[in-house]
Parts: sequence; structure tokens; C-alpha cells
Amino acid sequence: MKIALHWFRCDLRLSDNTALLAASKESDVVVPVFIFDPAILSAPDIGAPIVAFMIECLRSLEKNIEVAGGRLIFRHGPVVQEMSFLLRETGAQALHYNRDYEPYARERDAAVEKLAHSMGVEVCSHKDGVIHEPDEILKDDGRPYRVFTPYSHAWRARLRSAVLPAVKFARLSGFKPPKSIPLPTMKQLGFSTSICLPPAGERAGRESLGRFMAEDVLQYASRRDFPAEEGTSRLSPHIRMGTLSPRTVVAMAEKAAEAHPKMHPHAETFVKEMIWRDFYRQVLWHFPHVATSSFKPEFNELKWENDKRFFDAWCEGRTGFPLVDAGMRQLNAKGWMHNRLRMITATFLTKDLLISWQWGERYFMQKLIDADLASNNGGWQWCAGTGTDAQPYFRIFNPISQARKFDPEGVFIRRYVPEADTLAYPAPIVDHARQRLKALALYKRL
Ligand SMILES: Cc1cc2nc3c(=O)[nH]c(=O)nc-3n(C[C@H](O)[C@H](O)[C@H](O)COP(=O)(O)OP(=O)(O)OC[C@H]3O[C@@H](n4cnc5c(N)ncnc54)[C@H](O)[C@@H]3O)c2cc1C
Repeated sequence: MKIALHWFRCDLRLSDNTALLAASKESDVVVPVFIFDPAILSAPDIGAPIVAFMIECLRSLEKNIEVAGGRLIFRHGPVVQEMSFLLRETGAQALHYNRDYEPYARERDAAVEKLAHSMGVEVCSHKDGVIHEPDEILKDDGRPYRVFTPYSHAWRARLRSAVLPAVKFARLSGFKPPKSIPLPTMKQLGFSTSICLPPAGERAGRESLGRFMAEDVLQYASRRDFPAEEGTSRLSPHIRMGTLSPRTVVAMAEKAAEAHPKMHPHAETFVKEMIWRDFYRQVLWHFPHVATSSFKPEFNELKWENDKRFFDAWCEGRTGFPLVDAGMRQLNAKGWMHNRLRMITATFLTKDLLISWQWGERYFMQKLIDADLASNNGGWQWCAGTGTDAQPYFRIFNPISQARKFDPEGVFIRRYVPEADTLAYPAPIVDHARQRLKALALYKRL
């Protein structure tokens, strides 16, 4: 009898899951496991909203596995130690998991692989969380892309979408599954949040995807920049937790575009956003220094002012700039923020308040349900002008004209800052024109 462990991490689903399918094809029994890792749970950039969403996704996964004939095993403790217990208790001959591209995950997985090999267990890691892996899309000279547009052309040229079937779990008499702790609560993990979560789990992810592809994607390219509208997919928490696979998402978009030729530009724009996701993963993989410093090292010398009072006002949505405040209040209330507002609030923090992008990056990580090191870091460095290509440092958003353009009737602002037109609303904490000149001088000095 061949026994394999499938180690769930950011792939909390049964369908279209590369490692899980491979484990089930290659063995008689698959033992699905999830380990709550104290190193991740105690990291300074982990926030309650994403932990809450993860727990709900795990609750749903546990049920789905039960319906499919298996039992999800939970453990909580140092990963290498827990994995050694699990391998010993199950007598597994193989360990399957989907690859993760973050620096900490790479170290952790290398340690687990070493352990497994020392126990004579075969380790099979799989490509799953991206469409193309970092080393699959390289320039002709074999080096990684630093600029998005040529990367995106190479990415599209290699696109082949194939979605994988769901997995069932064989129950074999004579095999006793290992012990599991009950799914921990937020309190047991040391977190609490009052955020109202979006529906979690694989089915909720698929339903959101289906709804989006049936309706909203039809106008994606024209509506995606207006925060008052439901113009984007809101799939990011599902893609982040892996309750939806990026393959399924891209394949559905391609299918929708084929079915309705008019949809082509919209589906294409949507897929482009998924390319940004892969792009930032390959940046993090090839240039892991971005996790702790600027992509372009010269920008590490920027002399930020880092005024704590300004930072607090930004976090709490009381800068006196209505669209910035509305965005920050959306983040605090929902654990999600519209992409246009992520760009506006991030540019405002760095270019108007002259506060390091790293302060903002951490705040977003702590608050977002879709908090993702690669995309968040890439987005922040893009806005601060310290990152790969794109925004040159001298392009600075004017938060007032951005509001006129993207929330012309003030609908979104009124939703989150109802007091914006009253005396109760604070005056702007800085003068945009003056701060703009200061920012330009700061960057120019380099
Ligand atoms: C400062 C800043 C911080 C960000 N932090 C995160 C983060 O922590 N996690 C995260 O998933 N995205 C992040 N983004 C990217 C983007 O804002 C969100 O992915 C998007 O708003 C999610 O909403 P949606 O699912 O409706 O997106 P849609 O517009 O419907 O896009 C579909 C999917 O494509 C991916 N995507 C879209 N835009 C981007 C992008 N610019 N970069 C990478 N992937 C993208 C997401 O997986 C998204 O769900 C950040 C952007 C900025 C400017």
C-alpha cells in the first residue's frame, strides 16, 4: 500500500490542484494535512483578517474532504517537527506539495525536503500557484525580465490552459489516519477581528468566479477603475488562499472571450492583471532582496520624513483628502481595497506624506484579506517609484483630481466618509502642491 501526504498551504481546494491530483494518482492513500506554522502566525506582517479568512477556508475544505471520503489532519507547531511526526505516524513514502515562491517558504520547504529525504521519503513539489513559474519566462539571454510589458508578451505566447479534475479520497481498511487537533479558533491562534468576511471556501470562490464571468467581466476594461462600481472580480482573497486556482480563473476568462467576441478586450485586460500577479512572483523569486529593500538599491538612500502623526492619520482615514480617506476606511472596514485606491493611497503616503513605502506595505499586509507578499510589495514599490519598471518617480497623483476622475459624483466617498462635506471633516493635513515639490526634490537628490 503506497501512502502519500498532501501538504496544503496556499491551495485550499480539491479541484484543479496539481499536487493533490498527483498524490492521488500515484498512491493508494492520500493523507491531507495542514500545519499552523508559528513562524508565520507570529510574523509582524500577518494580520487578523487574512487569518480569519484562512480559518473559514479551512473549515470548508475540511467538510469537502469529508464528503470526498477523506479526513483533513490539522497540526500546530514548528513545521519541520510536525512534518517529522506526520511522516513517522503515517509511514508515508511520498510527500506532495505545491511550490511557494516567497523567501521564507523557500527556506522552510528546503528544510522539510531535507528532513523527508533523511527519512527516505520521496518529495514531489509541483507547479500550481502561478500560470508560468519564475524560470519559465526568461529573456533570450536567460536572465529574468525586469520590465512588465515584454514579460507579458512572453507570458501570453506560452499560455496553454488546462484545468485539472477534482480529487476523491480512497478509504482503505487497515490504514489508520494520524491524530488531528480540531481546527483552531482565532482566539486560540491569538487573533481577533470584527471584519465581516466574504464567503470563504472553494464553492464560494467558484460561484464568485462564475458570476463575474457571466456579467461583470463584460465591462471590466471600462469599469475597473471606478471604486463605486462592482467593476472588478473581487476574487483576490480566493486566489490568495488557493480556493480558486489561477489556471481555472484564466481558463474561464479565455473561454468567455471565445464565446463572445465583444468581450475580448475585457477578458484580455482581466488576464493582464493575472499576468501582473505572476510577474511580481518572478520578481520576488529572482530578486528576493525586494522583500526587505528597494528593487533599485539607490532608492534605499531616500530620506523619508516618516512623521508618525501623518502615518496615523493615513491609517485611520483622516488625512482631509476624501478619496484617500475613503480608501483607507474601506481597507479597515472590509479587509479589501479597490486597486485604484491602493494606488492612490500608496502614492499619497510616499509622495505626499513622504513616509517610507515599507510602513505602508506592512500596514496593508496586516489589514488585507488578500495580503500577499509578492503582489503587495510589487504594488508598493511601483507606487513609490522604487520598483521594477513603470512609474517614474516624478509622476505623482493629485488626490483631488483622481477623485474627480474616478469618483466624479462622490458616490464612493460618501459611502465611507459621510462627513466629507461637513465641518466635522478635518482640513487637509498637507498642502499637495508643496509636498509634490518636496517629494521631487527628495527623489532628485539621488
Ligand atoms: C499598493 C498595492 C498593494 C497591493 N497589494 C495586493 C495584495 O496584497 N494582494 C493582492 O492580491 N493584490 C494586491 N494588489 C493588486 C491589486 O490591487 C489587487 O489584486 C486587486 O485590487 C484585487 O481585486 P480584484 O480581485 O477585484 O482584482 P481584479 O481586477 O478582478 O483582478 C483579478 C486578479 O488579478 C490579480 N491582480 C489584479 N491586479 C493585480 C496587480 N496589480 N498585481 C498583482 N496581481 C493583480 C489578483 O489576483 C486579482 O484577484 C496591490 C496593488 C497595489 C497598488
